[in-house]
Amino acid sequence: MSVRGRVLVNVEALNMTESVGNYVKHRRVPVIMPEGGYTTYFVPAISGESIAHGFQEVLAEEAKKKNLPVCKLCERGIFLKSTNENVFKESFDSDPPKDEFEFERNVVEKCTVEDVGGFLYAPRAGGNVKRTSNFFTGYMVPVKEALEGVVIEPQLHSRYALGTPFVEGGQGQMIYYVELSSAVYTFSFDLDTRYIGKTTFSYEKAGNDVVENRAERVDAALDAVKKFLIEFAFGAKKTRFLPVLDWESLIIAVSDDVWTVPSPYTKNYIENTNRKKEKVDYNTELFLYPENGSFEEVVVDAVDKAKKRVNGS
Ligand SMILES: [Zn+2]
Repeated sequence: MSVRGRVLVNVEALNMTESVGNYVKHRRVPVIMPEGGYTTYFVPAISGESIAHGFQEVLAEEAKKKNLPVCKLCERGIFLKSTNENVFKESFDSDPPKDEFEFERNVVEKCTVEDVGGFLYAPRAGGNVKRTSNFFTGYMVPVKEALEGVVIEPQLHSRYALGTPFVEGGQGQMIYYVELSSAVYTFSFDLDTRYIGKTTFSYEKAGNDVVENRAERVDAALDAVKKFLIEFAFGAKKTRFLPVLDWESLIIAVSDDVWTVPSPYTKNYIENTNRKKEKVDYNTELFLYPENGSFEEVVVDAVDKAKKRVNGS
């Protein structure tokens, strides 16, 4: 499943980097725009790590709802993901297996989040085991037409305690700045279900089934995509800086082989997607918003169709 879209996000503080004193900075990235020459712009962005964190939180919930295993740390949204011996012991209440193949098999079996989202085991003594994530995402950046016009603006906020004894301690009037931005952002997310519930690390045994209920695992991942997209379930500072958002367009492709939707950075990505499908088609089905219905209808349809393929009906 491949998802690309354009989303208008107004007054957002979804991905902040450092705070300098009482000033909290929005993430910025360099983006090159070809216009005769090449000009570099520093623009507000939302990192793929931030999106991945949100997705895995939803995935942990969906897996638990289906009674699929999730380790003790992932179920609380702490994605240390088998980093070392201590993390493994805390996550699974057992000692890490010495054999690399057994290690991966063990983690995949016992944690749906690490099965889908991968992990990196790097113990001090060596013997690293890596599982690549089965989903892919990246930076959200302003779309091409918005790139030159986009700004980041620090907003002043204050907290008053005047008339209380706390004034003397310097707490009378706390002022702070939060950088906000507004832009039409690109959105990209791919899910490759091929290795969910299977081993990948040992080349001799890559592709061995670990779980009997592979379809259930894939269903959980797809249900997570559905909830994640419909609820826009990622980003920080949403308790007081809940953004005003509106999806402009979205394409979801469901295919029997790897088939990614072209980049939504330029407006003609919808046309590019249709043209790509004319040339390359792995039983590829496209679901387009707004052409094929409301945002929710399009997402639900795409996920339902993908589930049917996995469950062979
Ligand atoms: Zn886990």
